[in-house]
Amino acid sequence: MRAHCQCGKLSADISDDAQAMTVLCHCTDCQRRSGSPFGVMAYYDAAAVTLVGEATEYERATDSGSTFTTGFCPNCGSTVYARPGKYPGMIGIAVGAFADPSFPAPVRSVYEQSRHPWVGLPDTMPRHPMGRDS
Ligand SMILES: [Zn+2]
Ligand SMILES: [Zn+2]
Repeated sequence: MRAHCQCGKLSADISDDAQAMTVLCHCTDCQRRSGSPFGVMAYYDAAAVTLVGEATEYERATDSGSTFTTGFCPNCGSTVYARPGKYPGMIGIAVGAFADPSFPAPVRSVYEQSRHPWVGLPDTMPRHPMGRDS
């Protein structure tokens, strides 16, 4: 599987047997990062992902005192990946970068405290006001 930015210069190749854990986040940082009301990232074992092309990284602090670093294409600006400081063995891939409507749904919705009220999600999806432990 391959995810890539709008212009195609930055991509991520994911091994076929890799298992994604997809999380939907309504936090205001994800809103600003994505320019959208929420962000969706699929997390993989970092060993299963090969990044190809030049990236610019932006690191921010998280509520839990860790860091969250996003990698975006310096040419077109699309976020392609993220490295959660709390889970150094994982890498997140922006689900939109797969441009695949059949991509599996998120396992949880977090930071519902800043969810835009018109965003509706399946009743079966676990919801959390802040992080997964909230
Ligand atoms: Zn690009
Ligand atoms: Zn977020």
